[in-house]
Amino acid sequence: MSATAGAASAIPLLPIPPAQHALALTGIHAAYGKIEVVHGIDLVATPGRVLALFGPNGAGKSTILKVAGGGLRPTRGSVHWAGQPVRSFSPHRAVARGVCWIPEGRGVFPNLTVRENLLMWTYREGVSRAIVEEASFSRFPVLGERRNQLAGTLSGGEQQMLALARALAGSPVALLVDELSMGLAPKIVSELFEVIGELARGGMAIVLVEQFVHAALEVATDAALIIQGIVVEEGDPAAVAEAARRSYLAAGGPAV
Ligand code: ATP
Repeated sequence: MSATAGAASAIPLLPIPPAQHALALTGIHAAYGKIEVVHGIDLVATPGRVLALFGPNGAGKSTILKVAGGGLRPTRGSVHWAGQPVRSFSPHRAVARGVCWIPEGRGVFPNLTVRENLLMWTYREGVSRAIVEEASFSRFPVLGERRNQLAGTLSGGEQQMLALARALAGSPVALLVDELSMGLAPKIVSELFEVIGELARGGMAIVLVEQFVHAALEVATDAALIIQGIVVEEGDPAAVAEAARRSYLAAGGPAV
């Protein structure tokens, strides 16, 4: 998928390193054991753009994001982070190269406090705890109020804020978010998507996986519809969303 770079107008949370190609997947196949679930995907995440991946349950969206974020080695194809080919796959290495993946379920550590969770992700040299906390608490004041609270006791929306804040602590060039809206009230979802839009306007490349297309349409600049491990439609988000609706209806899936 191709996309043009957008304008960088808003001030980013932390300085964003320059990158022409924040993330590129080429001819990606992925499997669990012997069962291949992704069958040749091309995808580019571009600074300043928000790419939404739509598709029914089990289509392979999370698997694509997992490969992109270093959580799963593809069986075929190549991945580039910040313009460099990836040979060694791990989320830790991805973060070090500026690609941060927030898995479905947010991936916060429930038995650590808000502050401890933030500290866990200050991998990049030269980023101090104080700067990360200041940036996180100014973007999400509720996290500042709850800095010493265990993450597992935060509300769903607050946990998603913490996951975002923690991801931003690494100053990523590309942010991959799986099901941001899961289990959250529409108002909270809207607020979180506002943050996503702001980050993209600040120059970050964003890839979202969303089963519920309405929410993602608020911020998506590009979209792809994934069905049974392949891209069946891509381009303008509204057109892709319409194709997604038709395919969900045809499959008797959820109303979106
Ligand atoms: P959903 O919207 O339901 O999360 P998805 O489009 O994100 O679906 P994936 O989670 O990528 O789809 O799953 C694609 C296929 O891979 C599914 O058939 C799923 O059962 C299978 N799968 C996913 N994770 C694993 C795993 N860890 N081990 C084995 N199979 C898996």
